[in-house]
Amino acid sequence: MNILNLPDWDVYEIKEGEYDYVITARYIPEPVACIRCGVMGQLYRHGVKKQRFMDLPIHGKRAGIMVNRQRYHCRACHQTSFQPLPDMEKNHAATKRLIEFIGRESMKRTFVSVADDTGIHERTVRRLFMATVKRLEAENYIETPVWLGIDEVHLVKRARCILTNVQQRTVIDLLASRTKDVVSRYLYKLPNKDKIELVTMDMWQPYRDAVKDILPQAAIVIDKFHVVRLAIQGMDTVRKQTRSHLTARQVRTLKRDRYILFHRKNELDEKDKFILATWIGQFPSLGKAYQLKEEFCDLWLIKDKQEAQERYLKWMMDVPTELEPAFQPLISAMTNWKPEILSYWDYPVTNAYTEALAGLVKLANRIGRGYSFQAIRAKILYSGLPTVHKPVFNRVLEERLPFRPMAAIPEVKNYGIPFSTLYELWEKGMDCEW
Ligand SMILES: [Zn+2]
Repeated sequence: MNILNLPDWDVYEIKEGEYDYVITARYIPEPVACIRCGVMGQLYRHGVKKQRFMDLPIHGKRAGIMVNRQRYHCRACHQTSFQPLPDMEKNHAATKRLIEFIGRESMKRTFVSVADDTGIHERTVRRLFMATVKRLEAENYIETPVWLGIDEVHLVKRARCILTNVQQRTVIDLLASRTKDVVSRYLYKLPNKDKIELVTMDMWQPYRDAVKDILPQAAIVIDKFHVVRLAIQGMDTVRKQTRSHLTARQVRTLKRDRYILFHRKNELDEKDKFILATWIGQFPSLGKAYQLKEEFCDLWLIKDKQEAQERYLKWMMDVPTELEPAFQPLISAMTNWKPEILSYWDYPVTNAYTEALAGLVKLANRIGRGYSFQAIRAKILYSGLPTVHKPVFNRVLEERLPFRPMAAIPEVKNYGIPFSTLYELWEKGMDCEW
């Protein structure tokens, strides 16, 4: 075996520099038939050409193989041809194993660092990465969820569409944009899409249009998180208005106002409840806005759909004229999305799902600076795969024990990448490594 660990190669010189190995070698097998015309026994050697192929890094240094490649002339067709090199990928002037290595490494590291370590141009690394993504996409069939989630996530400066399996709490895909066109096309191509019973979403008209067109059988539910958020925002508008009219001294009395006002009353301790009561006395509009927020949140505790609906109408009548502008976004949403919001009483999406997704979306905002959307998408969907990550170092090999036969591969359904895996990856600091 030679340093290349490739059979059929004759290595005759190794030079080592600070960053590189240059290995001069020759491929031993020679062709018997002409690759141009197929005639056997008519080839004769016709000079040698030096060609460089990059290989896997050796001892942390880039490795280039200088190949003395035989050229032939064919007596039958009078054409010349090169010695075939089955270990090489001719389009990239690299070994096949390097190309495979780059495809794998580019899934977990920056393109720049992979280019730097291998001596392959960054543009090529990017291309190989895309090819790997395509392959993984074809290999990894993800089950179509029964409860599908369509939400927004901010990635690489834009709002993107994130698709989830609500019951399994997994990410199934990410789309570059949130237009009806893009979402419709995605839904249309989903296999077994008729098994989708329910779609949860945020209040984004293109999503609703796309789902109604492509998945007419599915019920649409607005996750309560998105509705309650509007009530909190309504109260927050009043909070900001209140603050803007105060003297610096009065503002100081409102210390921790966000914390106290944003929480549910029953979550506050006695001291904070007292502070809250003082504010309500001092700033009646803010007090009323807080009360409206609390009452709106309470609607979601009502078990009966009809009763919830009636209580909402009462709530709406109770909004004073001067607070109407602040709560208008909520009231409009309740009007425009009424059936979908009320669907929640038929299909209560769990808090656990909502909170996990919200946490994930928040984390996503931190990751992947300097990456293209496609790169981040692939890293999210595929970097947790065993085909991308190596298993732990093999003790069995180390101790030279015989391999145990492999058990049959159990059939496991793939629901996408679990939220929990993404948490782990991102919290381990993948954000900086990316
Ligand atoms: Zn020939």
